[in-house]
Amino acid sequence: MDKLLDIYKKIPDSVCKKNCFECCTNSIQFTKSEEKAMGGYSFDGKCSHLIDGKCTVYECRPFVCRIYGSSELFKCENCVPERYLTPEETDRLVNEYVSIKRQEELS
Ligand code: SF4
Ligand code: SF4
Repeated sequence: MDKLLDIYKKIPDSVCKKNCFECCTNSIQFTKSEEKAMGGYSFDGKCSHLIDGKCTVYECRPFVCRIYGSSELFKCENCVPERYLTPEETDRLVNEYVSIKRQEELS
């Protein structure tokens, strides 16, 4: 999880439009340790952690929930990030993330 936390720190914070939870109505990908950190996951048209329109695991939400809206490659028109990650920065983080995901799957 430490390596994932290092990746998370490199993602600029963003502020979502009030009461928006549109992206939480898509199923998401995560690593084994991210699933554990969230306390499991299920999807029935929305994320099981979306309750009353709020993410109840915000502090331990997975990579994909963090990077969406904070990258030039994954822009959300309803989000205001501190800054956008460039495509090169995004590729680097995604590659690091995929590598960790693979390692977890093999362990
Ligand atoms: S990232 Fe965008 S779509 Fe998702 S909750 Fe925030 S504002 Fe809404
Ligand atoms: S973990 Fe949180 S931010 Fe991510 S899809 Fe679920 S409710 Fe939305």
